[in-house]
Amino acid sequence: MSTGVVVVGSFNVDHAWTSDALPRPGETLAGLYASGAGGKGFNQAVAAARAGAATTFVCALGDDSGGRLARDLAAADGIALHAQGSDAPTGTAGIFIDARGRNCIVLGPGANAELSVAHLRAHRADISAARILVAQLEVPPATVEAALQAARDAGVATVLNPAPANIDVAGGLVSLADVLTPNETEFASLLAHHLGERIDPDEVAMLEQARLHDLCRALLPHGTVVVTLGSAGCFVSHPAALRRGDDRPHYRTPGERVQAIDTTGAGDAFNGALAASLARAPGKAFEGHIVFATRYAALSTERTGAAASMPRRPELESRYG
Ligand code: ADP
Repeated sequence: MSTGVVVVGSFNVDHAWTSDALPRPGETLAGLYASGAGGKGFNQAVAAARAGAATTFVCALGDDSGGRLARDLAAADGIALHAQGSDAPTGTAGIFIDARGRNCIVLGPGANAELSVAHLRAHRADISAARILVAQLEVPPATVEAALQAARDAGVATVLNPAPANIDVAGGLVSLADVLTPNETEFASLLAHHLGERIDPDEVAMLEQARLHDLCRALLPHGTVVVTLGSAGCFVSHPAALRRGDDRPHYRTPGERVQAIDTTGAGDAFNGALAASLARAPGKAFEGHIVFATRYAALSTERTGAAASMPRRPELESRYG
């Protein structure tokens, strides 16, 4: 039986500038430039693979240097790549990072916007053979929905990272998630779209746990919601029917104390590691998977880059035992 993770999502070539502050409109700043591989889908696939799961990545790539970079890097991490060819350029992202590690991002979706339902369906067998299907929202919603539905039809558990925020995610798509993993901004956006609840993203971490649990239950009655809270860790809310063993209905897991220098891709590290852990030890209590993902994501913030910053299992073990 497979113990694998299938990630359906985006690949981008990231162009990142680090400067003292984030640029304001009309301002020109000097900064340090670096380029590397990213895209929420690819970052999560690299995290899942480096966290120890056999990983397949379904994506769309242009016939250009970015596409070749994706193929080379996937091979280097032992990721099985199922790339749809595209006439559009490979996706790109312009990233600005300030001295505090905060970032702003502009995406050029390129080929990612063309990832088709037909390509996804051509690789349905990989989804059926997996333990966990992971998707985000940087590829067309219809393709994400087809992926989640294919997994559900095959009895494969789904993790939906509803990122980036402010995309009008249809309720049907959200309800196909077994585990939904918004950050604070994405959570606030989902609450506004689906429940008409206006909550300031900066206030999410301050809400009473019982209130957060109620909101999560209303958003995804039959699934687990994990709201990631940056350096503060995450909040987990389970539906009663899904709780196993010692699982509590809801709890906060604090973030690990680290010297964060670049939080780009922290959420991707968290999602990939969570998926890998769920695939490797499906019977374990959920909180154990959350602790693993929290440690993994924290370590990823100690270095720059997106996919490149994903830790390998031995690094994690040497830090946390
Ligand atoms: P995103 O990158 O999607 O905005 P978050 O910022 O919520 O997601 O980060 C995801 C996870 O990464 C958090 O739940 C936490 O475990 C970890 N993390 C993020 N930033 C830090 C940090 N500065 N220190 C320690 N852990 C962090």
